[in-house]
Amino acid sequence: MQAAAKYVLPNNRVGICLRHQIQKYGDVDVYKHLKTQKAFYGGLMVCGSVWVCPVCAAKISERRRSELKKVFRGHIDLGGECTMLTLTFSHSNRDKLKDLLSSLSGAMQAFAKTEKFHFIRKEIGLIGSIRAFEITYGSNGWHPHIHLLLLHDNEIEPWERHDLEDRFYRMWSAACEENNLSCSREHGLKMDDAKEASTYIGKWGDLMDKQWGTDSEMTKANIKRGRIGSLTPFDFLRVIAEDGDLEYADRFKEYALAVKGKHQLHWSRGLKQRFAVEEKTDEQIATEKVEQADWLGALDWKDWRYIVQNKLRVRLLEQIEQDGFEDALTNLGLRKVQQTK
Ligand SMILES: [Zn+2]
Repeated sequence: MQAAAKYVLPNNRVGICLRHQIQKYGDVDVYKHLKTQKAFYGGLMVCGSVWVCPVCAAKISERRRSELKKVFRGHIDLGGECTMLTLTFSHSNRDKLKDLLSSLSGAMQAFAKTEKFHFIRKEIGLIGSIRAFEITYGSNGWHPHIHLLLLHDNEIEPWERHDLEDRFYRMWSAACEENNLSCSREHGLKMDDAKEASTYIGKWGDLMDKQWGTDSEMTKANIKRGRIGSLTPFDFLRVIAEDGDLEYADRFKEYALAVKGKHQLHWSRGLKQRFAVEEKTDEQIATEKVEQADWLGALDWKDWRYIVQNKLRVRLLEQIEQDGFEDALTNLGLRKVQQTK
């Protein structure tokens, strides 16, 4: 999938990710993760893009998920409350993603700065919020949406919920209108409680784990016929990688251009400090090696060039997991077979 991203975006940094050595002509180390027993490389550059690189995204999402969990749990354990708003708007398959995103960002700003929001903030005792931004693709084209986790002190009584949701909806609907978007009561805004928020956080990053399979609804045939509810941009890469279908290449390109420079997660000021979550950029997370791992061996630059040119990056790791470092290199023709008498 990463190779598909490099192919679609030839000038993007994803093209150097886990291909170029950090030091020119430097060695590439191979490690084995102690817990998962998976082999991985060290000494290589990474791109740190949560939007376009499936490898970095998997790593970053995993870390962001534990940050989200830490804050959510910490807040709930202190007797706090959490409400999740899902905000979206009407769209069609004629809409360009870039236009939708700029309207959405305008609407979101308008929504958060109204006096009404300020009022609700006090009413529920808001201590902070986390905004997650997601894009999927379905039969009505691009579907950008926002999940807004509100961490607050005051409980919302069951009989107050409906009224509060209506008030949020009216604010959202006005914010959309200001930005030439339209939304409906049915689909525009959904309000969920802490339980749903917890499920959402638990699934954070799982988009990466979706696999093709006969038992899953995620099959290529379903994608082709548009039967599936929604696709993630990484599903496009999957189709490109498996089918070479370039219709999805154009979509992925449109997406990559539209999300450039955008943040996937936004924490309100002070929230991370409050729960002792260290401030780290996506690049930092993608670069750091925190795994407990055994060093298995090193590949020199000639070996590495051979592996990259022959598209063996994944195969080598799989072979190493199966046969060990030396045997894997021998099996792939990188080492001569030792003659024994
Ligand atoms: Zn990457």
